[in-house]
Amino acid sequence: MRNKINKYDIALIIVIIAVNVFILVYGSFNAVEKGQKIAYVYSENKLVGEYTLTDDYKTEFSVDIGSGSYNTIHIEDGKIWIHDATCPDKVCLSQGKISNDGELIVCLPNKLLVQIKDNQETEDDIDIIVK
Ligand SMILES: [Zn+2]
Repeated sequence: MRNKINKYDIALIIVIIAVNVFILVYGSFNAVEKGQKIAYVYSENKLVGEYTLTDDYKTEFSVDIGSGSYNTIHIEDGKIWIHDATCPDKVCLSQGKISNDGELIVCLPNKLLVQIKDNQETEDDIDIIVK
């Protein structure tokens, strides 16, 4: 009778399995996350959005900076670019698509900045000030 597995033993086994599965899933989740590119969108030096660039993520949105001015940003195939803008020089449009760590797009007239960083560096403060 003493060797019989009781419900507490079963509960303990389930907990051990659950913890192992959790460590396994959490570990692989971290591995997948590592090295991902995040696009940070700044308007007038304030972070207004961050987007993980993956091959299957697609979106388009506008950053409204008031007075009818805006930048339309497009994300597709792991790349981000300015699709449309009200700025007079259109320099941001000509900067094209970016997808690598450290690359950036700047729109000086609209005080907009898009920068890509690896997710390991999210703690870093932005060191470029658009005036
Ligand atoms: Zn521009």
